[in-house]
Amino acid sequence: MSKFKEKLEQYMDAGLPLIYVDTLDYGAVMKTIQVSADRARRGLIIWDQRRMRDLQDNINVEEKESIDSAIDTLLTDHSNLKNKLVVIEDVHFFLNKPEVISRLREIANDINEGKIEDCTIILLAPLGDIPKELENYMTILVPEYPTEQEIKDMILDKIEENDARPPEKVLLDRMIMILKGLSETAIDTILSLALADDGSLDASDLPMIMEQKQQMVKKSGILEMVNVKNSMDDIGGLEILKDWLMRKAEIFGNYTTAKEFGVEAPKGVLIAGMPGCGKSLTAEAAANAFHVPLLRMDMGRLMGKYVGESESNMRRAIQLTEASEPCVLWIDELEKAFAGIGGGGSEVTTRLFGTFLTWMQEKKSMVFVIATANKIQQLPPELLRKGRFDEIFYVELPNKTERKKIFEIHIKKRRPQDLQAISKDMNELVEKTEGYCGADIEGVVREAIETAFVKKEDTLSSSDIKEAIKNTNSLSDIMGDDLDKMKKSYEERKFKKASR
Ligand code: ATP
Repeated sequence: MSKFKEKLEQYMDAGLPLIYVDTLDYGAVMKTIQVSADRARRGLIIWDQRRMRDLQDNINVEEKESIDSAIDTLLTDHSNLKNKLVVIEDVHFFLNKPEVISRLREIANDINEGKIEDCTIILLAPLGDIPKELENYMTILVPEYPTEQEIKDMILDKIEENDARPPEKVLLDRMIMILKGLSETAIDTILSLALADDGSLDASDLPMIMEQKQQMVKKSGILEMVNVKNSMDDIGGLEILKDWLMRKAEIFGNYTTAKEFGVEAPKGVLIAGMPGCGKSLTAEAAANAFHVPLLRMDMGRLMGKYVGESESNMRRAIQLTEASEPCVLWIDELEKAFAGIGGGGSEVTTRLFGTFLTWMQEKKSMVFVIATANKIQQLPPELLRKGRFDEIFYVELPNKTERKKIFEIHIKKRRPQDLQAISKDMNELVEKTEGYCGADIEGVVREAIETAFVKKEDTLSSSDIKEAIKNTNSLSDIMGDDLDKMKKSYEERKFKKASR
């Protein structure tokens, strides 16, 4: 938190009256505030919803349970405030109350006018809506997540404390990569847990560390860390898209050298296309090829029950993603979030869209965005303009060669011993599945295997597969003309074809 500490001290020295620290990591932030207060030789007063305490004198100022009466006490006697740092916790619950707003403004004014000397009010809470009346007095400060070096130091300190053996470099680097994007308190808890079982920090702790990170990411609201199982070899076809991603993987893997050579940081890709044709699969495979974690942003949730907090959720998600670099950020169903912008979409959606666009435009971090979408007609044109994404691809129903590959992949995954025999009839299977998407073909293979098992057959045969094909309604059967319309809209916009 060295940058946070530096900024906080700068703001204190400059006499800024109200500093809003946007955080959930109260423990670590309070430690830093304490250090900064000591450095400036200022006393610390804390109101924590239950009471107000003056830490310098180590006594309770008074049992002030309500924020109003706590601030009133501070206001009645300015001498209480001279040379003090006042921390008000969980202020987000009260910033819609006119009496709190006016009291905070009064204190801020008094500080600005020099009636209260050397005093700073720190509001400690996750960021909510800032009332307009306080905007001119308030400065927002967001503590950064621990850097790689800081995480490394935390691990090594913890190991020393516990008399354990330091992990090998490769393992240490892997742990650091997983722990990136977590708060100091969270990292500390995870390390303690890892050391608690057998007193050592080794490869056997990785699954637990990963699981904890997944949970913490999930708690952030709209992000989820995906367990990557698929690789490029699990995708049948989409050769042009795969080649393009492998090129980016090369840059990603050697970013420092590439940057020195003049290569720009890859921004990301938008993959539009028909349902069930491998878009999500590609996001997973890309993270695998880049050797980085895959974070998924759930746009549905962003716009759903979290509407009131959607902007702060979006900012938090972006901050967490950036802190987790290098990573792939997969934004699924992009159109769900940004539909209707410019055509009567809500004000919140428009602001969210602005935040997202600015981030994409200015992004310098090693976060590779993979956005996937079906109905691109619903997407605002600004998003499709060149420069936002490095490239926009469209995936369509698989052609013959691709269908053959997809059959092979899914049979090989489940019944590798039967693939050779089925291959003799592969051309027929491919002919019979014109208009099927990848997910349809996977479904056919699964159903055929189930049938073979129920019929007590020893092997999966091509006739089982043909029977399953007969029983399947393909994507073209279901969507009909809509598929042609979709294809036309991709071609009109000159998106790149993902398949050869
Ligand atoms: P949606 O737009 O509905 O989210 P999608 O294009 O993201 O669909 P996926 O979720 O990637 O589709 O595909 C669903 C499943 O179908 C995959 O998990 C995979 O098993 C299978 N599949 C689809 N396309 C392919 C492909 N090209 N190669 C191999 N399997 C495929």
